[in-house]
Amino acid sequence: DVQMLSGDVNIAHLSFAYSAGHPVLQDVNLHVPAGSFFGVVGHTGSGKSTLMSLLLRFYSAQSGSIRIDGHDIAAFSDEHFRASVGLVPQEPFLLAASARENIAMGRSISEADIITAAKAAHVHEFILQLEHGYDTPLGEGGARLSTGQKQLIAIARALAGRPRILFLDEATSHIDSETEQIVQIALNELRGKVTIIAIAHRLSTIRDADSIIVLNHGKIAEQGQHQEL
Ligand code: ATP
Ligand code: MG
Repeated sequence: DVQMLSGDVNIAHLSFAYSAGHPVLQDVNLHVPAGSFFGVVGHTGSGKSTLMSLLLRFYSAQSGSIRIDGHDIAAFSDEHFRASVGLVPQEPFLLAASARENIAMGRSISEADIITAAKAAHVHEFILQLEHGYDTPLGEGGARLSTGQKQLIAIARALAGRPRILFLDEATSHIDSETEQIVQIALNELRGKVTIIAIAHRLSTIRDADSIIVLNHGKIAEQGQHQEL
């Protein structure tokens, strides 16, 4: 059994380059208290997804540290790390499988927990409206979902793993304002239950975030609440 984390994230002097000579992140320092809701904004190419990739251990930084609950993220076992974080990617993908299987993703998750996750993602009603409810095939050959609807399924999928830290990389394109508002509501309701680090392309999505970081050329240019920026 793995230790339950509180989800406190601390980034110190983080610098990263994909290739030598082109720094993508430069001396990033950030503290995200457990259970808080942080938003990340910035122009395309400013390093938002890269920062998230480092937080998820997809890459490791050339210098600096990332700590969760005071432990360097490199120190966690894969099992513990995977059980502790949830990711909603910028380009959500669907399996050619039922809505239920798209949320469970091969994990043994009870029906009740799948529905709880779908409700938290505000996608339960949508799924019930599909021809065969949770048994409706999605993805290839199945129901055609918009990017926004795919992101809601991806939020349910991430929440079904009961993460302590939820990473969301908002889809860049084709999100209707209704779905965008649903994402906003879902994130607000999760505040205090899970640490949220959400990259947003629309400031409205993270309007109510505890703190918003503005990335500019790989540096934190500004930080504050929505009305302060
Ligand atoms: P967007 O808003 O378009 O999603 P972003 O802020 O997420 O942008 P990143 O994807 O982090 O930006 O990219 C930051 C910089 O790193 C860009 O110059 C990009 O071209 C470069 N980059 C991103 N991924 C890679 C990669 N896998 N290999 C090399 N360079 C990369
Ligand atoms: Mg990105």
